[in-house]
Amino acid sequence: MTTLDDLPIRDDLRGRSPYGAPQLDVAVRLNTNENSYPVPDAVVDAIGKAVAAELRDLNRYPDRDALALRADLADYLGHGLTAGHVWAANGSNEIQQQLLQAFAGPGRVALGFTPAYSMHPLLALGTGTGWVAGRRGADFGLTVDDAVSQVRAHHPDVVFLCSPNNPTGTALDPAVIGAVLDVAPGMVVVDEAYAEFARAGTRTALELLPGHPRLVVTRTMSKAFGFAGGRLGYLVADPAVVDAVQLVRLPYHLSALTQAAARAALAHRGALLASVAAIREQRDRIVGELRRRGHRVADSDANFVLFSVDGDQAVAWRALLDAGVLVRDVGLPGWLRVTAGTPAETDAFLDAMEVLSR
Ligand code: PMP
Repeated sequence: MTTLDDLPIRDDLRGRSPYGAPQLDVAVRLNTNENSYPVPDAVVDAIGKAVAAELRDLNRYPDRDALALRADLADYLGHGLTAGHVWAANGSNEIQQQLLQAFAGPGRVALGFTPAYSMHPLLALGTGTGWVAGRRGADFGLTVDDAVSQVRAHHPDVVFLCSPNNPTGTALDPAVIGAVLDVAPGMVVVDEAYAEFARAGTRTALELLPGHPRLVVTRTMSKAFGFAGGRLGYLVADPAVVDAVQLVRLPYHLSALTQAAARAALAHRGALLASVAAIREQRDRIVGELRRRGHRVADSDANFVLFSVDGDQAVAWRALLDAGVLVRDVGLPGWLRVTAGTPAETDAFLDAMEVLSR
């Protein structure tokens, strides 16, 4: 039998495993920060109609520039943005890959502040970009001084900031982003996949876009919109950045079906985003209850919570799984991450956590 090792694969990919959380058949799945609420019936109907209307024309390529969808996304965001400031792709992962293809690649370096989203270094690997794992503070925060000194030390072509940060839930003060923009020689990408879940008073990097053409904010419909299966992510930046990613995007990368489905979802955003308040409530309930029980818990502006466990987190992860609840072991010694979902899922998680203290 032929194995990967028999193939003339790139040396830097040899021995690597593909990214992926376990997709296990467990009753309560709180491990990938999805939105637990299914698409409401009225939105299912609207998406069905929108997709059906495209079917006869599937002999033709879709709008390569996805202009109508980009205009709808700009309208959703506000902040005076237009279609020219927005670019869309199959998930924000693809967006970030395009950014690295355009602004990094062989001979160039990207910097992230770990622990952060584990796809950032993998996207660097896939695009032949060097990766520097920067550090965060003991509380998982990032101060202006700490961020600035690390950027100065490494001269990265791309800096990844993640706010709210996965897996910690920590949001960044715009002052940190502004300071990084002042000293970074290259592009500054702020991954705001979880922005809609932020607590009142937490600010978005969208505010910093005017006057900062090297700033890129990436967002997704996978989380708050509950549209992870639809695969729609986007970036917001100076229109020149949109010109840059068009040099590397595949032609017709966004199918007519994806564009139609995403537009229908955006048209019904009130119904889809109705889950956000309910999820925030569960997040805050998990934070409060785990703290009451003596766990250390990172402040969260996202739809998930990072919490400490006694002993080996892999053992705790297995015990929770045996109790029917799948959470995420992100490889941080002594910590696990749980997604906030429905009230019943929170009940199941908090009940399962009792087994750890026995
Ligand atoms: N950024 C962060 C921080 C994430 O956690 C995720 C999803 N796990 C993504 C981006 C990617 O989301 P998508 O490709 O579905 O838009």
